[in-house]
Amino acid sequence: MTQRLLLIGPPGAGKGTQAARLTTELGVPAISTGDIFRANVKNETELGLQAKRYMDAGEYVPDSLTNDLVRSRLGEPDAAEGFLLDGYPRTEDQVKELDDILKAQGTSLDAVVLIEADQEELVQRLHKRAQEQGRSDDTEEVIRHRLEVYTEQTQPLIDIYRERGLLVTVDGLGAVDEVTKRILDGLAAR
Ligand code: AMP
Repeated sequence: MTQRLLLIGPPGAGKGTQAARLTTELGVPAISTGDIFRANVKNETELGLQAKRYMDAGEYVPDSLTNDLVRSRLGEPDAAEGFLLDGYPRTEDQVKELDDILKAQGTSLDAVVLIEADQEELVQRLHKRAQEQGRSDDTEEVIRHRLEVYTEQTQPLIDIYRERGLLVTVDGLGAVDEVTKRILDGLAAR
């Protein structure tokens, strides 16, 4: 079974929800850069203080802050046998960085799961999440901007991984269980 995985998809596609389920199914840690940044903001660490203004504006946190964080997290013992990265890489530079990190470990990616969803559905889901969770980056204006940033900076990564033959594309629309099943079936079929 595949062990070193990425989850890619636009904000609101359900990456976090699926990551939480896949981690149990696959027995590898889910590593979400967004969650790590949010924890740092909450604890008012130096990293959190630096990251917050980008997050609140719907911008990506600079690679100089993000890459080191991922490098050290992937070096922890629980990630040695596999991981599910949620929300990283998001830029082409981050792709290169991840390639470097894995090369130094003598490992490589097994698959990249793309969760697709249409724009209208995403906006609605993000509004719902804003009401439920009160995330400071889930306001109308910031939501729209985050979708634009995704299209500009992260969408190109899909072709990179498709060309490498790693991409597993699933429809993110529908019940959470159903989407999890699509992902697991897609991975098993590889
Ligand atoms: P997420 O929970 O994955 O939607 O991430 C929330 C926010 O954290 C993003 O809008 C970015 O500001 C920041 N962030 C998370 N992952 C990354 C990343 N790989 N590169 C840059 N910024 C990130």
